[in-house]
Amino acid sequence: MDVCQQIRNVSNTINLVCSGFFSYLGTVNERDRIEGKPRCHCGIFGIFNHPEAAVMTYYGLHALQHRGQEATGIITSEYLEERKKWRFNSHKGVGLVADVFKDATILKQHLKGSSAIGHNRYSTTGSSDNLFNIQPFVVNYKGGNLALGHNGNLTNFQTLRVRLQSEGTIFQSTSDSEAILHLVARSKHAGQIHQIKEALDAVDGAYSLVILTDTSLIAARDPYGFRPLALGRVRQQNGQGDAFVVASETCAFDLIGAEYVGEVEPGEILVIDRDGIETGTLKSYHVSKRSPQPHHCIFEYIYFSRPDSKIFGENVDKVRRKLGKLLAEESPVHPDGEDDRVIVISVPDSSNTATLGFVTESNKLGDDVRLEIGLIRSHYVGRTFIQPDQNSREFKVKTKFNTVKGVIRGRTVVVVDDSIVRGTTSKQLVKLIREAEPKSIHFRVTSPPIRHPCYYGMDFPSREELVANRYEGDVQMIASELGVDSLAYLSMPKMLAAAPNGGANYCTACFSGEYPVPVDRPVTKDANDS
Ligand code: SF4
Repeated sequence: MDVCQQIRNVSNTINLVCSGFFSYLGTVNERDRIEGKPRCHCGIFGIFNHPEAAVMTYYGLHALQHRGQEATGIITSEYLEERKKWRFNSHKGVGLVADVFKDATILKQHLKGSSAIGHNRYSTTGSSDNLFNIQPFVVNYKGGNLALGHNGNLTNFQTLRVRLQSEGTIFQSTSDSEAILHLVARSKHAGQIHQIKEALDAVDGAYSLVILTDTSLIAARDPYGFRPLALGRVRQQNGQGDAFVVASETCAFDLIGAEYVGEVEPGEILVIDRDGIETGTLKSYHVSKRSPQPHHCIFEYIYFSRPDSKIFGENVDKVRRKLGKLLAEESPVHPDGEDDRVIVISVPDSSNTATLGFVTESNKLGDDVRLEIGLIRSHYVGRTFIQPDQNSREFKVKTKFNTVKGVIRGRTVVVVDDSIVRGTTSKQLVKLIREAEPKSIHFRVTSPPIRHPCYYGMDFPSREELVANRYEGDVQMIASELGVDSLAYLSMPKMLAAAPNGGANYCTACFSGEYPVPVDRPVTKDANDS
């Protein structure tokens, strides 16, 4: 089905274009929540000055697929020599990167141009089945073409939306990201960078952005640096100078052979243009709002980012191992007598690295424990997987995980997981492991109890649904709810000790309730849908 509509925003004289055709249409409310983890925000990617910008973006988005699986899109900027003007090409759709771009001619023939941005979506505001919410958003306004991809959540979106609507702005999507485009379009400043700066001065909360203009790629990050955003470079020998790339995580750089240059700093607006390529110096601006210190999302290290990525200037693998080591130090599991064999298994895949840290440290501390592969995860249970009538959580967990019974039977089993959210999945996992007849089960978690929602881009369930709240933080009661012989969470001081810089620059609000940026009106993600 072709969806190509141009919506005229009369008051602001901008054209909000939802362009491209959708290779797959359907509602995506039935998300794969089998793992019972919070869903995160989005993945963003941008590239400037590369002859195959769209293909590079495709690979970048593929590497960032774990950050959002609901929808994806790529916008390219193409200079039409014969018409002496710029054109933005767009292709967006619901589904995984490989599905939406399965026709190679889309990348090779439709998405022409040497600069591109891309976005993988998991919605945190804006309903997932509203097709207009698929990013990157594109506008054509008085300053030219502009496309935007956003990772994070704006905490003053409700106030902004009411204000902008009362002034005549027509919102096309229900996503908070659209407000940034309206603010840019309404700016009275001359020059896009000043218009963008004015828009970012008006928004609060979490944003890592890639913005494509006719002649530049702009990367920007909120003053707190909640979400990661890295800068890289692709060396080129084609006489055109190097290409620059920005991405949520550096795993996207590895796939396309880009080298890591550094972080886009909190509060920075970094401009990558022809001038920067030629001089080797990129122009850097800053939003006016300042934070005394960054507040990076510590949950990116615990669960969300890939272990082969470097975020916030540190390797995720290194931090995750340290989380496991400190957990073993704080809450060891000792063999129960001379004949007892303690095995440690991870809940794959996000807990694999921390489990290595747990085992190494346990052995160092004198406990003879052994790493085992006791849980096997199916990687092929996707959004389109047809559930039989027995559509219970127990069955869903079984479609995703199975036990290696010979490994578990008769053993003292330590299960290492990165977090417990509702507790329902953990409970089913424990049941599954219990069926394999272990001697005992000891659950170890590499983060403190989650007791508060996130307003900065991670989709947690309500407070009432969080198991740590249901039992008011009573670990014994949570242990009996899960059906384990013992349960231990990593303490807050140890979690912070595992992070770079002693954890001084991190947001811990979902554990502590201390929110670094106030939220004007907490809303559900589909609150603005009619
Ligand atoms: Fe990350 Fe939790 Fe802070 Fe959200 S509240 S940004 S998930 S640490």
